[in-house]
Amino acid sequence: MNRFTFLLIVSFFMLTSSSLTHAAEVTPTNHEIIRLRILETTDLHASLLNYDYYQTKVDNRIGLVKTATLIRKARKEADNALLFDNGDHLKGNPLGEYLARIRGINRGKTHPVYRAFNYLKYDAIAIGNHEFNYGLKFLNAALKGTKMPVLNANVYSVKKNKPYFTPYVILKRNVVDQNGVQHELKIGVISFMPTQIMKWDKTNLEGKVFAKPIVDSAKEFIPIMKAEGADIIIALAHTGISNEPYNPESEDAVYYLTKISGIDAVLAGHSHSVFPGPVYKHLRNTNMETGTINGKPVVMAGAFGNRLGIIDLKLKKATGKWRVIDGESKTVPIADETGKPLVPIDKGLYHLMKPEHQETVDFIKKLGL
Ligand code: MN
Ligand code: MG
Repeated sequence: MNRFTFLLIVSFFMLTSSSLTHAAEVTPTNHEIIRLRILETTDLHASLLNYDYYQTKVDNRIGLVKTATLIRKARKEADNALLFDNGDHLKGNPLGEYLARIRGINRGKTHPVYRAFNYLKYDAIAIGNHEFNYGLKFLNAALKGTKMPVLNANVYSVKKNKPYFTPYVILKRNVVDQNGVQHELKIGVISFMPTQIMKWDKTNLEGKVFAKPIVDSAKEFIPIMKAEGADIIIALAHTGISNEPYNPESEDAVYYLTKISGIDAVLAGHSHSVFPGPVYKHLRNTNMETGTINGKPVVMAGAFGNRLGIIDLKLKKATGKWRVIDGESKTVPIADETGKPLVPIDKGLYHLMKPEHQETVDFIKKLGL
């Protein structure tokens, strides 16, 4: 055997053995699995505290100070977690009214709703239809205080003929797989709201913005997000759930969003309802055990902070790409049916919200209400 043949044989064995070792490393089925938890608040309507301003007393069935405790618990249980608000957060109670109509926010102060979102480190938030109720000027001033992406993809500027807000983001997050190995995941997040805003807030919006049908906007942007490298896509859908025949102007588009390829999870809202839950038991292609519609996990976490929505995704890497192989959803309440509290308040958030809460209470008192 000459030197050349010898080297050839040696390198042949080295190749074979190294590829065998490699194959052995990849074979175990649970090798690269990422568990990703997605948390939702929706339709808070300025319910920051567990307080009823009309009856001037504590109400333990509402309030982000309560949901915040569930958020901390849900984060602690998870390897990786993301937190989103699904819109309708600025208006709906005397605190929201007091801030918008009496005190204003032009004092270099951040609106308490956005201060709460910053404090709880939301990863992104959606604009809901009620965000327009105090006009675009107030909304834009308030949004200056946000420290996270603020999203909507189907409301367009009339002047620019482009999305009025940031339509989507691709969040780069370092996540750990089940062996504790870090990976960078590109999480696409997009948001929608009902086109009915043009009727509901005509005086605030006409001539300034217009709305495109939710499903059309989704079909326009999802391929762009995929082309930009999104490993998964989450829809912050400020819209309800219904399986009436498809209508582009439907207020409740979640069912049809779940049918769009590329969308992996849908955070629903707007109807102040609970999914999974008995209200939706007659919905087609829906599994109430896993909280999936057309095989996609969906969650709707009530309103006023009364529940936290949780979607748990399982991702697996196959041929170099992360793919969702399993997803389920549930909601967790802050109180039982009789109103008995199930969690304490988050004291840090309570102290942060107390000044504006007290101002609102004092203002109501002064009016003699
Ligand atoms: Mn709402
Ligand atoms: Mg709404």
